[in-house]
This record gives sequence, C-alpha cells and structure tokens, in this order.
Amino acid sequence: MKLCRFSTDFNERPTATAGPQIHYGALEGKAIHVLEGDPFGAHAVTDAWHNVDQVRLLPPSVPSKIVCVGRNYLEHARELQNEVPAEPLIFLKPPSAAITSGYDIVYPPQSQRVDHEGEIGVVIGRRCRRLGAGEDVTPYILGYTCVNDITARDLQKKDGQWTRAKGFDTFCSFGPVIASDADPARLEVRASVNGELRQRGDVSQMIFSIDVVVRFISQVMTLEPGDLIATGTPAGIGPMQPGDTVEVAIEGIGVLRNTVVAV
Ligand code: MG
Repeated sequence: MKLCRFSTDFNERPTATAGPQIHYGALEGKAIHVLEGDPFGAHAVTDAWHNVDQVRLLPPSVPSKIVCVGRNYLEHARELQNEVPAEPLIFLKPPSAAITSGYDIVYPPQSQRVDHEGEIGVVIGRRCRRLGAGEDVTPYILGYTCVNDITARDLQKKDGQWTRAKGFDTFCSFGPVIASDADPARLEVRASVNGELRQRGDVSQMIFSIDVVVRFISQVMTLEPGDLIATGTPAGIGPMQPGDTVEVAIEGIGVLRNTVVAV
C-alpha cells in the first residue's frame, strides 16, 4: 500500500498535525482512498476518495523526531574528505523542518551553499527500544519513503555541529508516500536537479544496512510510530539555487519534487 496524508485545505501548513480536514489515505494512481483511523493502529480503507491533484499532500507521517545517518556511503564520505565511521554516525533534524512533494524549499539568507541529499527513508510503525543484536526489525517498520536531507554545507563546516545546517524550516522533504510493501533489499534512490541526474545509490552500497541502523538507534532512543530515519546519502551531493527543481525518486515509491525559492 502507498500511504499518504493530505488536507482538503490547499493552504495547509506542512507541519500541521491534525484537524477535520486532514486524513490518511491510500494512493492508487490518481485516486487517494480515505483511511478511517491511521496506519499505526486499526484502520480501514473507506469508499471515500479524492483526486490527488485536488488536495494538498502533507508529509506522510508526523514524526516525533527525524533521525539521520551521516556518511553511510563510502563514496560520499570520500567526496567530503571525511573518515569512514566505525559505527553509525547519527544526528537529528527537527520535525519543524518537514515538508513533502509540492512545497517550496526556502533558501535561508544565512547560507551561500545549500545542498540536496537524496536518501532512502524508513518510517517506524511500532514503538521500539533496545532491539536485540540480531532481532528482526521488520515488525517495527511501517514502510519506506524518499527523503531530501537538505543541508547548508557552509554552516555545517562553520558550526562544527549540525543543528543549524540541517534544521532550517523546509529542510526535510519526505514522501510523497510511505510504501508499506516495498522490498528493502532492492531500494535504489536517485536525485536530480532540473532533470539532470546527480545522485544514485542503493542499499547494497550502504556501510551500515537498514536493520543495523534501526537497531543501533533503538539502543539510544525510543523510536515512536511515525518517526523518520534518513539512512544516508550516496555520492554526488551538490548545490541548489533558487529556481531549481529537485527530485528524489525511488522506484516503487514515487517522486519527491520540490522547487527552491529565495526567502
Ligand atoms: Mg544526509
């Protein structure tokens, strides 16, 4: 199933969490079938539906936190002259940064270098903490999604820690859907700017696999339903300018498309 969230109010803020106009849905072609309940608990597909072009898609979950993995692809670690980490290197983005396909990425005046980072995203379906060393993570995963871990590269270098560089409003685009039936062994992410392919990477190239990453994070913090894990970006990161359109695509999930605008 391709799970999404949407609002019938076209002016909805991307970080809106709930309201009578906000629903979960199952996307099939152009039709969004409205869910009763939410995908983290008891739910059912109803007869009600909307055309996807006539509603406002929202980020497909409401994460309590967004946990990202840095330097999880060898070639990307090398392109920024970084050491390859001995264990997963994790950091957080604030939920206030969340947008999805169709919203603008706002280029902040504090930065002169804003990069795209196309990534494979994991959305947690069931609360978990301290998963065992060989424990199967699949019961805790709702599905997979596209992520753009937008980064003010100059501020990342300048600050030494990454909160500002990674945390601006609109700097975490994910969606447009969560594919609950995607095969995690076959995911490949591609990122392009103005139609030109910039990044391409698949799960086989990750230094730490998705299950290792989920278990590792669960040793540190309780993962809640809706939490998003961005599993790291492959080589080919690069700058975006106001006016650019950036796409992150994963076959079987969809295309996450955003345009960059000046403040
Ligand atoms: Mg990243």
